[in-house]
Amino acid sequence: MATNFLNIEKIYNGLIEYDYDISELTTWKIGGKVKCIVFPQYESQIVVLIDYLKRMNIPYYIIGKGSNILFGNNDYNGLIIYLGKKFDTYEITKDIDGSIINCLSGMSLMKIGKIAKEKSLTGFEYLSLIPGSLGGAIITNAEAHKKAISDLIISVKVLENGMIKDYTNEMCMFKYRTSIFEGNKDLVVLSAILALENGNKEEIINKMLIAKDYRIKKQPKKPSAGSVFKNPNLAPAGKLIDDLGLKGVYKGDAKISNIHGNFIINEDNAKSEDVLYLIKIIRDKVEEKYKISLDLEIKMFNI
Ligand SMILES: Cc1cc2nc3c(=O)[nH]c(=O)nc-3n(C[C@H](O)[C@H](O)[C@H](O)COP(=O)(O)OP(=O)(O)OC[C@H]3O[C@@H](n4cnc5c(N)ncnc54)[C@H](O)[C@@H]3O)c2cc1C
Repeated sequence: MATNFLNIEKIYNGLIEYDYDISELTTWKIGGKVKCIVFPQYESQIVVLIDYLKRMNIPYYIIGKGSNILFGNNDYNGLIIYLGKKFDTYEITKDIDGSIINCLSGMSLMKIGKIAKEKSLTGFEYLSLIPGSLGGAIITNAEAHKKAISDLIISVKVLENGMIKDYTNEMCMFKYRTSIFEGNKDLVVLSAILALENGNKEEIINKMLIAKDYRIKKQPKKPSAGSVFKNPNLAPAGKLIDDLGLKGVYKGDAKISNIHGNFIINEDNAKSEDVLYLIKIIRDKVEEKYKISLDLEIKMFNI
């Protein structure tokens, strides 16, 4: 296996690190050592790399910004393709009502929000507070204050089974916290085209400040991956967890937040097993009391 990893340098000329502590790149600050991690900058690097990994049977996993993943604490003897560092250029074109932005998928939602603000474009204010990448947001149809990424997407470009394909918005089959891409291990979101409307800069800044203020008040500051569970039809998952008196319950350094019941925070040195333990407690108690099973919003890997 080690020889295969060394050979990557022959076909991939971007940044590579070995024996990397992945907890540094997940917002939960949880995860073990990964054998190899690459930070591609260009689409062509990803295409060549994935073709090589498949031919050599090297296991791999894609991470955007790592803000929605519980990464297991065991070592991972595979390769991580981390897009949220260097895969983030964009092109912007003006039209009469607004602008069209074509962004690589590693671009942070925060950066897209900043560009939109500078150009007085509206539509991205609330999404810009989500700490993920565009690719990650597309996979799960990220949403804030009832504005979803799917409201802005014109098309998405993916690498699927070795072929580059364009999906129109309809083809993406966006729904509440999901899309046609979710769970497809043989697919990479490469880029997307978004439409933003002309707006008023002061109003845009104001909306961003309101959204920021809301997060400061309603969400814990300690490391987390945001909401752990999707909201069931019955009520928001956080309310059900709160009503069951589970806020503050902890295992090791993982704790059900006192501020928001659907957040599990890492107090300092939480392990993936600690989080899994709390997830099980929550699910069992919710099932027992409300006879429903909570679906995970977070993704798990190497667990
Ligand atoms: C404090 C906090 C607040 C949050 N608030 C919100 C919120 O308001 N609304 C909301 O919807 N979410 C929220 N989240 C969750 C998270 O930020 C979003 O789901 C975000 O869109 C995930 O993006 P990411 O790049 O970090 O994805 P990652 O965590 O890196 O990946 C998530 C999944 O997508 C896959 N993936 C990522 N990029 C690609 C790609 N280019 N191609 C193929 N697969 C890919 C990964 O393999 C993984 O399965 C919050 C998280 C935190 C920590």
